[in-house]
Amino acid sequence: MIKRRASFEKFLQSPFAMILPISIWAVLTFSSFYWNHQIIQSSSHQAFTMRGEMSKNLSDIIMTWASSHEAIYVPLTEKTPSSPYFDIKNKDIKTSDGVALTQLSAGQILSQLSLLLDKDSVEFQLISTQPLNPANQASTWQIKVLQSLLDDSQRHIEERNGQFYYIAPLFAEQSCLDCHKDNQTADLLGAVSFNYPIERLEQRLDPLHNQNTFIHSAIFIILSLISALAIYHVRSLVNRISAQKAQREETIRLKTKNLHQEIEQHKVARAELQRLATHDPLTGIRNRRHFIDSLHNEIKRYQRYKSNFSLLMLDLDHFKKVNDTYGHDCGDYVLQCFAKEIQENLRQSDVFVRYGGEEFAIIATNTQLDAAERFAQKLTKTVEALTIIYHQQTVNITVSIGVAAPSLLKTSSPESLISLADSALYQAKALGRNRAICATPDYDT
Ligand code: GH3
Ligand code: MG
Ligand code: MG
Repeated sequence: MIKRRASFEKFLQSPFAMILPISIWAVLTFSSFYWNHQIIQSSSHQAFTMRGEMSKNLSDIIMTWASSHEAIYVPLTEKTPSSPYFDIKNKDIKTSDGVALTQLSAGQILSQLSLLLDKDSVEFQLISTQPLNPANQASTWQIKVLQSLLDDSQRHIEERNGQFYYIAPLFAEQSCLDCHKDNQTADLLGAVSFNYPIERLEQRLDPLHNQNTFIHSAIFIILSLISALAIYHVRSLVNRISAQKAQREETIRLKTKNLHQEIEQHKVARAELQRLATHDPLTGIRNRRHFIDSLHNEIKRYQRYKSNFSLLMLDLDHFKKVNDTYGHDCGDYVLQCFAKEIQENLRQSDVFVRYGGEEFAIIATNTQLDAAERFAQKLTKTVEALTIIYHQQTVNITVSIGVAAPSLLKTSSPESLISLADSALYQAKALGRNRAICATPDYDT
C-alpha cells in the first residue's frame, strides 16, 4: 500500500502526469474532429448528388413537357441567354399583336438551362454518342460511362480532373418512341451530366471545416487546461500532505531523540545519585553506608563459610592541628592524599571507606588477624613516609590503626566488630599514636 502510494506520488511529480491526460484528450478530440470532417465531406457529396438528381428531374420534366408539344414558341429578348447552337431565325413567327416568338426544341431549352446553371459554376452537358453539335462529341471516358449506364440504368457519380460529376441516363418517353417507330429498341438517348468544381465545393465547405476545427481546438484546449489545473491541484495537495507528514515525522524523530536524551540524562543522574549514596564526595572512596552493607555481607560469609576477614579502623593523628596550622582546605587536601595513598596499597577485593571526619576503615577480605596486623603496621609506615605538599608547604601526617577480626568475637555483628576495632584504635592512640594495635578477644575480658 505504502509502495503503491509512493509510486503514485512519483508519477504525479513526473511530467508524464501532465502529458498523459493531454494525450488522451488529443486522441479523443482528433478522432471526433476527423469523424466530423468525414461527415461534412460525405454530407456535401450527398447534397451535390441530390442537386444533380434535382437538376436531372428538372431536365426530365422539361424533356417530357417539350416532347408532348410539337413546338414551343417563346419571345427572345436581350436577356435570353444566347447560344451559338440556336438556329432560330427561320423559325420566328409573329403574334397578332406583333410579338416575335421563336420556336425552341427541348434540346434548345435544356441548352438554355445549362447556360443558367453555368452561372452557379454547375456545368450542364448532354452526352450523346451522336450529338447535334460535333463539338459536343462524348469523350472516351464519357462513352464508357454511357455504356455502363446502358447496362445498369443507374446514375453515375465520379470525381475527375477536379470536378464532381453527376451523370444520369436519358431515356426516351413512350410517346417519343411512338414518333420514331423504326427505332423502338434504342430507348437510351444519352445522358445528362452535371459537374461542379471540387475546389468550389471545398470553398463552400471551408466555413464548416473551420467551425469544426475551431470547436475541436477549443474543446481540446479547455479539457487540457482543466486536466492540467486538476493535476496541478492534486500535485500541490499531495505535496502539502507529504510536507505535513515529513514535518510530523521530523517532530516525532526530534521528540524521540529528546526522550532518549532525557532517558540518558536520567540514567546519568541516577548513577550519580547512586554513586553519591555510596561514595564520599571529598575523597571519592566508598562511604560509611557502603561500609556497613559490606561488613554485614562479610560477617554473613564468615558465619556461613568461615571465610576470614579483618577490620582495620584508621584515625589520623592530631588532624585538628593540621587544620589549625594550614587551614581547612589543606586539611581536605591531606585527607584526599591520604585516601589515595592507602587505596594504592590495597588489593582489589579490599573495601576501603571514609568512616567519618578523619576516620577511615578497611575490610581486608580473606585476611587472618596476624596478616592484617602486619599490613596495618606497613600502612602506618607508608603514611609516615608520605610527604604532602600544599601551596609550597610540606605537611606530614601519621595514622593510628586498630585491627580486629570476627574470630575475636563470641558472636560477631558489625557493631561489635567495629567496637572491638575502635577499642584497639583507642589503645594505639593511648600508646602514643602512629602505630597499629591488634584487638584482644572480647571473651578474654
Ligand atoms: P587525635 O589524634 O586524637 O585523633 O586528634 P585529632 O585532632 O585528629 O582528633 P579530633 O577529634 O580532636 O579532631 C578531628 C579533627 O578533624 C576535627 C575536625 O575539624 C577535623 N575534620 C573532620 N572532618 C574533616 C574534614 O572533612 N575536613 C577537614 N579539613 N577537617 C576535618
Ligand atoms: Mg578522630
Ligand atoms: Mg584524629
